[in-house]
Amino acid sequence: MLVDDDLKARMVRWRHHFHQFPETGFNEHRTADYVASVLQLLGLEVHRGIGGTGLVASLRAGDGPGVIGLRADMDALAMAETAPDRPHASRHAGCMHGCGHDGHMAMVLGAAQLLAQRPDFDGTVRFIFQPAEEHGRGAGAMIADGLFERFPVDEIYGAHNIPGLAEGHVATRVGGIMASEDNFVIRIQGRGGHAARPHMAVDPLVVAAEIILALQTIVARSVDLGEPAVVSCTEIFSDGIRNALPSNVTIKGDTRSYSPQVQALLERRMRELCQGICSAHGAQCEVEYTHEFAPTVNWPQCVELATAAAAAVVGADQVDGDVRPMMISEDFGAFLKVVPGAFVFIGNGAVGSAGGVPLHNGAYDFNDGILPIGARYFAELVRRRLPARTAGAGT
Ligand SMILES: [Zn+2]
Ligand SMILES: [Zn+2]
Repeated sequence: MLVDDDLKARMVRWRHHFHQFPETGFNEHRTADYVASVLQLLGLEVHRGIGGTGLVASLRAGDGPGVIGLRADMDALAMAETAPDRPHASRHAGCMHGCGHDGHMAMVLGAAQLLAQRPDFDGTVRFIFQPAEEHGRGAGAMIADGLFERFPVDEIYGAHNIPGLAEGHVATRVGGIMASEDNFVIRIQGRGGHAARPHMAVDPLVVAAEIILALQTIVARSVDLGEPAVVSCTEIFSDGIRNALPSNVTIKGDTRSYSPQVQALLERRMRELCQGICSAHGAQCEVEYTHEFAPTVNWPQCVELATAAAAAVVGADQVDGDVRPMMISEDFGAFLKVVPGAFVFIGNGAVGSAGGVPLHNGAYDFNDGILPIGARYFAELVRRRLPARTAGAGT
């Protein structure tokens, strides 16, 4: 299924429009209007307002029962673009598509046009546009709003452009491909006192120091060496008087991992260590542990389809089916907790090339050259998973 020059030009136009008018998570009103208008022009019925600004459109061909979901994310970042001379530069000060979600939308819309124009499949495709990926809240909001009850899918697929991966290369893996992110706040309450009379006090700073070091033993001594994980303390503050021992110390930080089991282990060990150390010193402790992003864990049978579809589009020599996982997090993981599916990386350009500027950098830009690859990849998934019945089948 090839992308002609006309569709290529349309995808670039869509992408540049999104880039010029970026909107942050759950504020993607104009973005969703534009996405909806493109889908409606293709003849699809669009359902708006799912999980806030999210939307879904379905395309049916034949009477097959299979349903595939293709997902794009719509939000931009609250950061300034540092390339104002770019013809399609952001017109919203302090807001930019610094993660390439403008390109992701254009790719899925491109697939919608390819499939609507030539519906050579048997079943249903759902185009799912989610809000607020950057906050890790949009997928959950759509699911909580009944996304999969109203629009069931058998499998769901997504992609992210990756600067540093050669243009048009596709990479994925079975299992954890992107990390979970959890945040924690540890509040230690001791008993303040004069800095010169520590025996009269319970010094929460000494307790905090012990906790910070002990937290490093979770990865070093509790997690299986074959399982990647990170525990990082990133902030510490106290009551803040120089000649007094504080009563309160707060430690903040974040953890990453690739499996729900390790994620649960990190939380459990953190709580045990904090309680144990605090009680050994006569201090009180409260641990607040919040789940920001689920790990993105690819389903084996879906990775098989994803690598075959990618190979059909870019050639097997440009597909890596066992890429190293990335420690960054992705909201797509929330979908994969409830529905089988697979997430792939599409190369935005090697380091040093125009597409190699890192994500979340003010000079970053999505590489328009990979739009047709993304569109064809998504369409190919559908053709392969929901093959059209040949004439005469069943007789
Ligand atoms: Zn991002
Ligand atoms: Zn992103």
